[in-house]
Amino acid sequence: MNKLKAIDQETIKVLNQKKIIQLLYRNKQMTKQDISKALQISIPTVISNVKELIEQGFLDEAGVGESSGGRKPTIVRFLPDSRYSFGVCITKDQVRIILTNLNFDIIDESSFYMTEQSDNLKNLISRIKEETDSILNTNDIPIDKLLGIGFSLPGTVDEKNLLLENAPNLKLKNINFKDFQCNFQFPLFIENEANASAYAESFINFNGIISSLVFISITEGIGTGVIIGDNLYKGHNKRAGEFGHMTIIKDGERCNCGKRGCWELYASKKALINEYTKKFNKLDMNLNDFLELTKRDLEAKKILNNYIDYVAEGIKNIILMLDPRNIIIGGELPSNYKTLIETDLKKKIFQENSFYDEEECKISFSNLQGNASVFGAVLLPMGKLFYLTEKVI
Ligand SMILES: [Zn+2]
Repeated sequence: MNKLKAIDQETIKVLNQKKIIQLLYRNKQMTKQDISKALQISIPTVISNVKELIEQGFLDEAGVGESSGGRKPTIVRFLPDSRYSFGVCITKDQVRIILTNLNFDIIDESSFYMTEQSDNLKNLISRIKEETDSILNTNDIPIDKLLGIGFSLPGTVDEKNLLLENAPNLKLKNINFKDFQCNFQFPLFIENEANASAYAESFINFNGIISSLVFISITEGIGTGVIIGDNLYKGHNKRAGEFGHMTIIKDGERCNCGKRGCWELYASKKALINEYTKKFNKLDMNLNDFLELTKRDLEAKKILNNYIDYVAEGIKNIILMLDPRNIIIGGELPSNYKTLIETDLKKKIFQENSFYDEEECKISFSNLQGNASVFGAVLLPMGKLFYLTEKVI
């Protein structure tokens, strides 16, 4: 009985400390009195927990605030440079590595293109290890300040067992990342790239985002991350949200996954590039240039319109299935993508839609400027610090 009580006390202390860290992360600095009011925990409890968090380096005392009678209250400040985290985003073409502090300020970064040699995952991880060592040396960051390294991967992921189950666009299956843990002196985490992006959107854009959202990551393929009731929904086999592979055209084109007519064959970035390259026969025209062309060329506009039809069809299906409050579109998209498709896309989704109107499901574009996936990777090791409960259901 006494043992149970002791465990409960310890759990409460950990929870209180997480709540204080999260509150100060959002507010940067507060008096102990205000922390007590905001979290509804007693002042002596705040004082003892803040003392421990100061000892661990997360907070410091930064002067005194205005008094409302009596002693002036002490201000406590969040120290974002108390810990750091690595995020690695692996796509078919590129690997990007960033180091951030707890404020998601990018301290340093490095990227390289995938070559045939890096197809071998062992070589790839060795290269990533070299880059992280070099970043730590250059920035003089001690290992004990590192929370870990998070990998954002384009495939289905069992995050608990560190297993990348299936990544058709990387042609990888059943890769156990536990085998790579020995390369790093800090904990390793993995997650699907769209799930990681959804984490980042819901955590970093905390104030604007409701607890139910679907992040649609448009890259070489399409990945989706589903947040329900503030948790990442992964389902029984941890494969939920593979909407990129829902059938949009029966007996359509053959997909890397083995099925036919998958949504990503018609609505991904690659799908749009394939379409305009066929028509205009210009292999060197990038997506940005093509999108600009749609402003003055009818043929180009027609291709874009057709593409938006497919994007809209998929989103309509997702809304019907999940009824999310927010849908956020992101991935590897040029800046003019949003400007040139947003109005038409919303029209196609909500016109003649007897189930939903624009107010009921907010469609927006990620404002993390292509960083959602890599910020989500950085957030994986930080989870233990910030999250009160496990975030996967
Ligand atoms: Zn598919």
